[in-house]
Amino acid sequence: MATATATIDLNAIRHNWQKLRSMSSKDSGAVVKANAYGLGLKQVAKALYDEGARIFFVATAEEGAELRSNLGNALEIYIFSGHMIGDTELIKNYNLIPLINSIEQLSRHSELLKEKKFGVQLDTGMNRLGMEPVEWETVKGLILSLNPVLIMSHLACADEPDHKMNVTQLNIFRTLTDKLNIKKSLAATGGILLGPEYHFDLTRPGIGIYGCSPMQDCLPVLKIDIPVIQIRDIKSGETVGYGNTWTSTSEKRIATISAGYADGIFRVAGQGTRLYFEEIGCPIVGRISMDLIGVDITSLKGEPDKLELINSEQTVDKFAEGAGTIGYEFLTSLGQRYNRKYASANK
Ligand SMILES: *Cc1c(COP(=O)(O)O)cnc(C)c1O
Repeated sequence: MATATATIDLNAIRHNWQKLRSMSSKDSGAVVKANAYGLGLKQVAKALYDEGARIFFVATAEEGAELRSNLGNALEIYIFSGHMIGDTELIKNYNLIPLINSIEQLSRHSELLKEKKFGVQLDTGMNRLGMEPVEWETVKGLILSLNPVLIMSHLACADEPDHKMNVTQLNIFRTLTDKLNIKKSLAATGGILLGPEYHFDLTRPGIGIYGCSPMQDCLPVLKIDIPVIQIRDIKSGETVGYGNTWTSTSEKRIATISAGYADGIFRVAGQGTRLYFEEIGCPIVGRISMDLIGVDITSLKGEPDKLELINSEQTVDKFAEGAGTIGYEFLTSLGQRYNRKYASANK
């Protein structure tokens, strides 16, 4: 079989969430947007639910509807994008809680779903989603009369603990929500690490659950193995791959493995990335193709039938850094083709 295998450790996911929850001052939810950061909404959310998670966050109403269908009615599902045109039926039928981002969304929600729960998202400086402070002041009285269940904002620089933006946003959030008797939420993974003054009533960890930076001391969640299709010996002066970008300077043994940029192995990853056989790292040679990658396995004794891309030597964060990106982007770029195995599915 030529399909690469992505093994997702659900026990590690459970462990990491428990850790983030125990670090949080009060309650902790779980962010499972974008198919649980590419790792599989159904399996990941079930594992977190079994572990006691009851508050989930997703990006869109469609994601929320899927989550509701999978896990039933005993959980709260918040929608970061709020109440968009076309979302009304999904919000109503799947009992979703939109995080209202603007006066326009507020009017829509209060006209179309007056009795349905909602939360409010405030912008405290990131300028991405949420009501501006002046808008909030204008409609605060009206909103409070409608009993929002959560008031939240999002930090722009929480993965840089010393960044002065963190304190700025904390102070703005405090000013805007001071004395309000509503559940409050400011911190994602990075915010949890900043300390208890950022935690308020509910934290919203995502990436830390999936074992990546900025979370520390978490368990790795993902392993990737890629089958070797063919092995050949080449002479000095021969080239490998599209565009002849790599030329051998001595005799080499080259393995062609069955994965490529269609599997999230970005073309720019070529330079420092290794494929591992046990602890031995073998460099990528030539351009990464859509479905194939050349690897210099001259240093290996035997002929491996598979090589590892993601393991304890080359973590998601390390791979991502080598490709000039972050763990979040790599995880959500994995694509459809992997043979996905969920390890330790039963506790
Ligand atoms: C994605 C997201 C989170 C989770 O962030 P992580 O850095 O993955 O922990 C929390 N809140 C909002 C608003 C988000 O968009």
